[in-house]
Amino acid sequence: MKRSRRMVVLCHCILNASAIVEGEAAYAGALENLLLPIARDGLGIIQLPCPESTFLGLKRWGMTSEQYDTPAFRRHCASILEPFIDQVEDALENGIEILGIVGIKGSPSCGVRETCLGCRRGTARGSREAGRAEGPGVFVKVLRQELTARGLDLPMTEVDNGDPEAACWEETRKSLEKGKRT
Ligand code: SF4
Repeated sequence: MKRSRRMVVLCHCILNASAIVEGEAAYAGALENLLLPIARDGLGIIQLPCPESTFLGLKRWGMTSEQYDTPAFRRHCASILEPFIDQVEDALENGIEILGIVGIKGSPSCGVRETCLGCRRGTARGSREAGRAEGPGVFVKVLRQELTARGLDLPMTEVDNGDPEAACWEETRKSLEKGKRT
């Protein structure tokens, strides 16, 4: 079978629940409702790296966007993104269609339209105690900046990985096609 020459870019934990903060994963391994239809649609997948687990490891607490919004974490995001943006740029230069990027609703790092705010200094508060807020997470902000710096612009949307049954590729694909941006 010929390749479709079409791809989608997914945030890491859509394919790997083990990267999610301890106790917060709502599925065993991968978000099936999203991935199986993507595979059936004949799309290739670029899996972005997980910025939090590559920065603080799997023993990290749930934190908020303000807590991650530091020079060191932003630099880390830019650094781990570089080879993936190279891959995206090269694919586009070679005529491959990239439908867009799928982030994680409410994540302090990977939220696209909704993130997590409400840092309470001095305590080990989990992200579930913080509030949801409009706006992108830190990793997505850096991703946009790095894409823009190369003259690239891809639609972005997000899925709620806390509700795996509700994840729907059809809706996600439509959202990307509309080019929804925050
Ligand atoms: S939302 Fe982003 S930072 Fe959080 S586990 Fe998933 S990939 Fe990692």
